[in-house]
Amino acid sequence: MAITAVEELNILHSTQLIIKEALGKMGYSEEMYELLKEPLRVLSVRIPIRMDNGEYRVFQGFRAQHNDAVGPTKGGVRFHPNVTEDEVKALSIWMSLKCGIVDLPYGGGKGGIICDPREMSKGELERLSRGYVRAISQIVGPTKDIPAPDVMTNAQIMAWMMDEYSRIREFDSPGFITGKPIVLGGSQGRESATAKGVTIMIDQALKAKGIPLHKARIVIQGFGNAGSYLAKFMHDSGASVIGISDVYGALYDPNGLDIDDLLSRRDAFGTVTKLFPNTISNRQLLEQDCDILVPAAIENQITMDNADRIRAKIIVEAANGPTTMEATRFLTAREVLIIPDVLASAGGVVVSYFEWVQNNQGYYWSLEQVDSKLKEVMVKAFENVYNVHISRKVDMRLAAYMTGIRKMAEAVKYRGWI
Ligand code: GLU
Repeated sequence: MAITAVEELNILHSTQLIIKEALGKMGYSEEMYELLKEPLRVLSVRIPIRMDNGEYRVFQGFRAQHNDAVGPTKGGVRFHPNVTEDEVKALSIWMSLKCGIVDLPYGGGKGGIICDPREMSKGELERLSRGYVRAISQIVGPTKDIPAPDVMTNAQIMAWMMDEYSRIREFDSPGFITGKPIVLGGSQGRESATAKGVTIMIDQALKAKGIPLHKARIVIQGFGNAGSYLAKFMHDSGASVIGISDVYGALYDPNGLDIDDLLSRRDAFGTVTKLFPNTISNRQLLEQDCDILVPAAIENQITMDNADRIRAKIIVEAANGPTTMEATRFLTAREVLIIPDVLASAGGVVVSYFEWVQNNQGYYWSLEQVDSKLKEVMVKAFENVYNVHISRKVDMRLAAYMTGIRKMAEAVKYRGWI
């Protein structure tokens, strides 16, 4: 039966369907699916904050912990007006898959607060970040659940959160959170890690499709943390970045964009297109001619509504959930190679893991060490998923889910939970 557009865009529902299919293909029981289809724990919190004008506003926040059979849970906290409980739940499941694919000793977690940081002062953001940590402090910690940056959160917010947690526990706890500023125990290479991981995926995908890097034409949707670093890395490596976008619009030039100029004019949230008169829409950008399309913004960008107009040969998902399950099937049938989010964007959590290891050891690594270990992990993860895709004749997303969920299901079995 054909699914409706509303069902197609329900990310929790479609994630559950793919988890079910992945577990079924590997011979796991229905009981295993019953356990893994939802987070073990979801905490919903109300956070009262005094705003600069003296009034109080109450913010809604969440923290979801998908499964801790493998180890503590791990995943970012997003600040966004459209955060919902179901979205945070789905994102926590995706973090489990990411950690499984790159073989980290973690399960998945995710947090979110319904707010718009673009309209808040620094002081308000600090109070909200600290209030969130107080609200969830019972269930998080360096050996329980380790937060990190996500959409519209950054190293400064991680610093406030770490400071608040350390005050509550009354000892310095750098391993409570990753993505911190370097002076507070952050890792070299963490800020650009998601983008670096994506460049490694692009290399692998180009090899699989036989396209040389210097001939590759790339469109990147989103100019936040992942999108902007990626544009810089691809531009510096000799590829041609021909399209970028932010929430307000997109720039496209088949002859290549001046990325260094755009980066120097970008604000803290990655906004730059407002400065230009001739923009196109985000939707139009996705449909432009290119070799590689990198959605690096938010969910549900490539759907059955526009999949037949996508002209890229390769899609590398730097954002979480940009392509729906149905659009994935449609495009795979047209031989578009999709490197799914749970694989392509795992570079961030890999270097978060390195940061946590360094915090626990009190011994810090050089950027070269971080980069070479990241590369080793990402290349191996790509090969594992690609081999499942070929040998089991499943699309790359299902191959990634099968690879990502296996370790967790085994850990659940050994612990005797199922
Ligand atoms: N928020 C990032 C993600 O979705 C990073 C998570 C982390 O570093 O723990 O992968």
